[in-house]
Amino acid sequence: MQKNKPVALPQFIELGEKKIAGLSKILNKHRLVSKSVMLLCDENTACIGGQEILIMLRKENLKVSEHRVDNSDDQNVERVEEKIKAERPNLVIGFGGGKVLDVAKLAAGLTGPKCVSIPTTLSNDGLASPVSVITNSKNIPVSHITKAPYGVIIDLDIIKKAPRRHLMAGVGDLISNLSAVFDTRLALQKQREEINDNALQLAESGGQRLLQLETSEIESNKFLQTLAHGLVKSGFAMCIWGTSRPASGSEHKISHSIDHYYSRRTGLHGEQVGIAAIFTMALQNNTYLKAARAFYAKIGFPCTLEYLGLTLTDFTKVVTNATKIRPERYTILEDKRPTKNEIERLVDFLGL
Ligand SMILES: [Zn+2]
Repeated sequence: MQKNKPVALPQFIELGEKKIAGLSKILNKHRLVSKSVMLLCDENTACIGGQEILIMLRKENLKVSEHRVDNSDDQNVERVEEKIKAERPNLVIGFGGGKVLDVAKLAAGLTGPKCVSIPTTLSNDGLASPVSVITNSKNIPVSHITKAPYGVIIDLDIIKKAPRRHLMAGVGDLISNLSAVFDTRLALQKQREEINDNALQLAESGGQRLLQLETSEIESNKFLQTLAHGLVKSGFAMCIWGTSRPASGSEHKISHSIDHYYSRRTGLHGEQVGIAAIFTMALQNNTYLKAARAFYAKIGFPCTLEYLGLTLTDFTKVVTNATKIRPERYTILEDKRPTKNEIERLVDFLGL
């Protein structure tokens, strides 16, 4: 039976409009106005608010350095680690999408300073989680457990400017919790793992709330707030559990298997897990399946293998090999071990 160490939860979440404009106040409120700050951005996020943050913090007479992250890979983490060791900032601010935040969390986690995450999009549940997904030299994403960010600041004015596709991917990552939570409960029934129901309820409730939304306007405040809250709760669930387990089950195994076999994949993580979740929820006879499919149809979530650039043969290969990923994590795939014919039949039935 696995036993994991919980990770400290983020100490604050600030979610709303005009949060960047009030950043100094927020940092003051949470006693984070340190002498020296390191700001991490990418080329794009430097232009959509990064420079504004830099100017604002320098006006407060802080020593602020800015560094660019161009990918979430081993090299970027090492480079940022070196810079942190050389400059010794008290605070690292990650301002960007999943890649910048993953590098900021892991590099700060390895070297010591507090880290504040300011996501510029909502494409996955890494914004408040203790997990950093970093691509290795073979172009395969590897999950690392690190410290969760000390604080998370979500400015809806910034999020609204994110590509619609990224927000859809965030929806997929959140809906995938409904499959992951089922798998975790299944593993408990089979006495394979110890349960922490608080964590499971947190992970599940984010996905549930999204399905109950009446609006399908993805850029509306109501939608974005529900999505952001859900992704934050997902991060909290991972902290309590101590691993990604409450938010990563069979559907994530399938996605990791896609990453492994098709390194030139085109789908975003949230798109892959969101589509795979429909397949795994069908295998699970999951009670959320019907609502999830209806919700995807309502918001126009691209739910086909073709969208991911996969043929039926590719998908069958990916699913049959998915049990090799994290074999200690018991899911519906280990439980049912679907055959090639069963996979094909289910894909056809679901219209994937
Ligand atoms: Zn995920």
